[in-house]
Amino acid sequence: HVKARGKDGYRFYSESMSIDTANRLSLERDLRMALERDELRVFYQPQVCSSSNRVVGLEALVRWQHPERGLLYPRDFLPLAEETKLIAKLSECVLDQACHDVGQWIREGHSDLRLAVNLSPVQVEHPRFVETLMAQLQAHGFPPQNLEIEITENVIMNDLEQISQKLRELASLGVRIAIDDFGTGYSSLNYIHRLPIHTLKVDQSFVKAIRRGEDGACIVNAIVAMAHGLKLQIVAEGVETDEQLTYLKSLGCHQVQGFFYGPARPADVIGKTLGHTPARAVAF
Ligand code: C2E
Ligand code: MG
Ligand code: MG
Ligand code: MG
Repeated sequence: HVKARGKDGYRFYSESMSIDTANRLSLERDLRMALERDELRVFYQPQVCSSSNRVVGLEALVRWQHPERGLLYPRDFLPLAEETKLIAKLSECVLDQACHDVGQWIREGHSDLRLAVNLSPVQVEHPRFVETLMAQLQAHGFPPQNLEIEITENVIMNDLEQISQKLRELASLGVRIAIDDFGTGYSSLNYIHRLPIHTLKVDQSFVKAIRRGEDGACIVNAIVAMAHGLKLQIVAEGVETDEQLTYLKSLGCHQVQGFFYGPARPADVIGKTLGHTPARAVAF
């Protein structure tokens, strides 16, 4: 009963089909209940300014505290949530928690603190996406200027016409737009200067490649150089080592995010670290 997990979700071999189908059904039922029983947790990972070493943003990353299976990560349940339309409820729940937590820190004096949230394609493609998002911010009194939405290149390329209209609307309301996993999708560079994008997030695979020498590093060089030219903010993801950090700083990469500064953590833990500087000193 071998099960291989593809990037796009699950792939099954015939002999394990019945088991996996049962497993999947139980997971789907559990996820439905999880939404009612409030088992989803939002963890926050710091985004650190590479020159001041201060935490300037927090990326909200969803976790599921499953009563039997323990703490589950997005790869364990997001594909299923997207296939079953439970993603709408899940996203609403994540944004509610995140607006509540980060909104409180903003009011407590961290007035420039940015909240970064990942949006799923299903969410963005919904005709009332902009209204729904803005209504939710308003319900929490969360300032749109403190929100950055993260979308992938694939979402943009899927329907450039529709998406550019929505992004323009959001940008005019103050919301910032980041391209996540930049460089890994199917895309055309042509869209970048035609859309109101504020930030490129260099995918962690390119950051990992820095230590393997020039080939990997030169992609990072190219992305950072392009971002500078277009006056975009650049966030490097998956920064784990001093070597990577030093290299990224030397290129003029504005912000870094990764295990070097710490993984995503629950609100109560992150709340205590805010305001301390340098970020490194309190991360471990
Ligand atoms: P992402 O948005 O690209 O998030 C970065 C992922 O890399 C996170 O995994 C994070 O925990 C992990 N990471 C951060 N620093 C490091 C590092 O130094 N080394 C390594 N190896 N990994 C690092 P996570 O939390 O498992 O999330 C995976 C993906 O699931 C996210 O990728 C995002 O696409 C999606 N996701 C997470 N939360 C949400 C959500 O609330 N809504 C939606 N729609 N998608 C979400
Ligand atoms: Mg992200
Ligand atoms: Mg990413
Ligand atoms: Mg990703």
